[in-house]
Amino acid sequence: VPELIEVEYYRRALASLVGSTVTGVSIPDERYVRPAETPVQVFDQVIGAQLSSVGRRGKLLLARFTDDYVIGLRFGMTGRLLIDGEGPIEALEYASTRNDPAWDRAILILDGRRVSVRDQRRLGSIELDPETENLAPEASTIREPDLRNALVGRRKAIKTALLDQHLIAGLGNLLVDEILWQVGIAPSRASSELTDGEIGALAAETRSTVRRLSNRGGSHRGDSFEARTSGAVCPRCKGVMDRSVVGGRSSWWCTSHQT
Ligand SMILES: [Zn+2]
Repeated sequence: VPELIEVEYYRRALASLVGSTVTGVSIPDERYVRPAETPVQVFDQVIGAQLSSVGRRGKLLLARFTDDYVIGLRFGMTGRLLIDGEGPIEALEYASTRNDPAWDRAILILDGRRVSVRDQRRLGSIELDPETENLAPEASTIREPDLRNALVGRRKAIKTALLDQHLIAGLGNLLVDEILWQVGIAPSRASSELTDGEIGALAAETRSTVRRLSNRGGSHRGDSFEARTSGAVCPRCKGVMDRSVVGGRSSWWCTSHQT
């Protein structure tokens, strides 16, 4: 969290300011800038430009300005986009509900409106003209052939593969656990062992889970979310829910219907 659903909410919020002119840029913490060692002053070029559109690829937010400037924002584990201190999502799962302006890592002033990235853990970043040519396919629209391509020959666990932003863009821990629970695939299954039928079902479930949870208000609104606790039973089949660590990430799954 934030996953592509949350970043899409940020995209819509920022898009409400299209047409506004950048009158100030402030990056209090130069370590937030990517690539590393980039001087914060490079962002001063954008002052005077107008926000022309706001896009998204996976979890990368792309603010496009006149004169062909593009600012890329990544939100890490706890980043939020705020406009005049208000966010489109009240409180992200796992993010502190404290709201400390000292965590504002990047601030753009757009015709007097204050757009900030508030990020307690500082795992997000800001980048001028980020590379977007070689990004992985977008999870919200992924089709079976692209998913099969992404997984072909991968021996790593399917959970790990789906979280790999170089293979498929936009999914995080909560969405992947929900998708695998919905489709009945265990998170530790080797990607290369999935049948074409399973990959087709996985692609379809990825699209529908993203759409459903977007409408419900966030990545934490999955049908399996309430069962992410020890001693819980599977809401679908009453099987035992188990927590495993797959690829270094905590994974909740049903030991009965996910195989
Ligand atoms: Zn189950």
